Amino acid sequence: SDSHFPVPVSPDEFDLSQHYPRYFPGDKAGDGEEAALPPRIRFADVGCGFGGLLVGLSPLFPDTLMIGMELRDKVTEYVKERILALRASNPGQYDNISVVRTNSMKYIPNYFRKAQLTKMFFLFPDPHFKEKNHRRRVISMQLLDEYAYVMEVGGIIYTITDVEELGDWMRSCLEKHPLFEALPEEEIKADPVVKLLSTATEESQKVARNGGQTFHAIFRRISLQEE
Ligand code: SAM
Repeated sequence: SDSHFPVPVSPDEFDLSQHYPRYFPGDKAGDGEEAALPPRIRFADVGCGFGGLLVGLSPLFPDTLMIGMELRDKVTEYVKERILALRASNPGQYDNISVVRTNSMKYIPNYFRKAQLTKMFFLFPDPHFKEKNHRRRVISMQLLDEYAYVMEVGGIIYTITDVEELGDWMRSCLEKHPLFEALPEEEIKADPVVKLLSTATEESQKVARNGGQTFHAIFRRISLQEE
């Protein structure tokens, strides 16, 4: 349920040391070293489910902080445990991934600053078939405004689904939005992340087992002259 979970009032209040302790080893005051800028989260997996994408991405981008956002409490707890277990059995690895329980449709700007993210993922989101429920879809023109705000120019948004109607919907929202442009086919083919979309997550594996088709829309955050 959506009952109770803490939400940072602003990105400055989002305590990353809890999520990535190896990257935030605490107060180094007095050791004479110049304080480096703290790292920021760069990738967000929205509706991450059981976390398969994060686990697949972690070794590909070992110095990039990534977060999964998940609404279900038990699923979030499972992903936390999964990451802690991976860290314990693979020392020095999986320190760059974490998960937060939140409602991404309400609170994205509480977690990320303007132009912070370089990749956002929306893998197999809930379809919300009925017309009156389309406003609950995680891709909409209004939400794309928010995603564009937190994404860096040049950043990439990845979507995939096995529901053709939802695939058409996500693509058409992205095509209509002035701040996104379709990634050219050659770039899609060359991008190592793309293969993970249809193989790494629990939902993608279920679809593959059942021989289902998938539909992706992969777009780049672009700038407008006025920006
Ligand atoms: N991306 C995962 C995968 O491919 O295996 C999970 C796909 S699952 C069909 C959709 C997930 O989105 C569910 O785990 C659900 O709890 C989560 N979700 C739905 N609405 C959400 C919201 N507003 N904020 C965060 N997560 C949400």
